[in-house]
Amino acid sequence: MTMKRAYMDHNATAPVRADVAEAVLRAMRMGGNPSSVHAEGRAARKLVEEARAKVATLVRAEPAEVVFTSGGTEAANTALHQTRVLGAERLIVSAIEHDCVRAAAGTLGLPVSTLGVGRAGAVDLAQLEELLKQPGRALVAVMLANNETGVVQPIADVVARAHGAGALVAVDAVQAAGRLPVDFRALGADMLFVSAHKIGGPQGVGALVVRDGLPFEPLMRGGGQEFRRRSGTENVPGIAGFGVAASLAASEVDRMGQVAALREKLEAALRQAEPDLRIFGDGAPRLPNTVLFSAPGLDAETLLMALDLDGIAVSAGSACSSGKVAKSHVLEAMGVEAGLARGAIRVSLGLENTEEDIDRLVASWSRAVRRAREKSKATAHAPVREFVES
Ligand code: PLP
Repeated sequence: MTMKRAYMDHNATAPVRADVAEAVLRAMRMGGNPSSVHAEGRAARKLVEEARAKVATLVRAEPAEVVFTSGGTEAANTALHQTRVLGAERLIVSAIEHDCVRAAAGTLGLPVSTLGVGRAGAVDLAQLEELLKQPGRALVAVMLANNETGVVQPIADVVARAHGAGALVAVDAVQAAGRLPVDFRALGADMLFVSAHKIGGPQGVGALVVRDGLPFEPLMRGGGQEFRRRSGTENVPGIAGFGVAASLAASEVDRMGQVAALREKLEAALRQAEPDLRIFGDGAPRLPNTVLFSAPGLDAETLLMALDLDGIAVSAGSACSSGKVAKSHVLEAMGVEAGLARGAIRVSLGLENTEEDIDRLVASWSRAVRRAREKSKATAHAPVREFVES
C-alpha cells in the first residue's frame, strides 16, 4: 500500500487547485493569440482580461494597474528596474527579502543600503528613518510577509516614512496574498507583486501591480503587450489559471483561522516534544500558515530526508533551486546562532491539511531528532583512534 503523502510546503509551491488545472487546459485547447483581431484572438484576450480583474480583486487594485509577468521573480526585477524612470538614485532593501529582490537590487549599479530586522524578524523602523535621511531619492523594498518565518512586516509604517521622505516603496506580497487580506490601496505602496503558484495557481506566472499614474519603463521589450508594460505573447493558460486561483484564494482568506488553529496545534505539540524548541518570529505577527522552528544541535538536511521517507513534505528555511540547504540569510539577519539555524525546518500549511498531518509530522520529527541525538552521542563516545602520519 502506498503511503498518503502529507504536503506541508505551501510557501514553496501550493498544490494546484483542480479548477485551476481545468482552466489551464481549457485555455490551451482554445488557443488564439490575445493580440489577434479575429474571434480566436478576442476569446484569448477575454480570458486574460477576466484574469486581470480577478488578480486585481485579490489585492484590491484596479485591473489597469496589473501587469502579468512570468512570476514573482520577474515582477521583482521589473519593480526594481523602475529606479531609473522614477529618478531613484539608491535602494533601501530589507535584509530578509527574497533572493529575487536582493539579487536584482545588486545589478542596478546604484548604492544599496540594507535595512535590518529585530530579533523577532520585523524591519527596524528607526533604522529606516535614518537611512531615509541620507541624500538622494530612494526606492525601498520591504516584503509584506517573509517566506521563511511568516513574519508580517509593518508596511503601512514603512510607506508612511518612505513617502514622507520622498521615497518610493515596492512590496513583495508573494507569500501574503491569499493568506492575509492584501489591500494595495490601503497599504499605499507604489508597486506590489504576487505569484500564482503560492496560491494554488500554475508555476511561472505572476503579476506586478503598479500604482496608477506612476511612470513605468518595461524590462521586457518587444511587441508591446500588457499595455506596453511587458512585451511577449501572454501566457494565456497560465494567466487564466492564475485568475481562477486568485478568485478562490480571495474567497478563502476568511477561512485562514482554520489554518492558524492547525499551526497552533503544531507549535504546542512541538514545544511539548522538545523543551528547547525555538520558533522563529514568534514574538511578531505571522502568516497563519507558516512556522519555522529548530532546536540546538540538529541538521535540517538529515531531518528533511527522514520526514520525506515518512511521507511528509516540508522545507528547510527557503527552498533553494539547487536542492541544497543553504544558510538562511533571514535567520542570520535575526541574529540566530548558526548552530540553531542549521536545524531549522519550515512548515507551511494550507486548507487541505488535517490534524492527522500535524500528528504525523510531530511524531516523525521527534523520531528523527531522537535518532540524530543518539547518533551524535554514540560518535562522541566512540574511542578516538590514534592517527599516525606516515
Ligand atoms: N518572493 C517571495 C517572498 C517568495 O517566497 C518567492 C518564491 O519562493 C518569490 C518572491 C519568487 O516567486 P516566483 O517563484 O514566482 O519567481
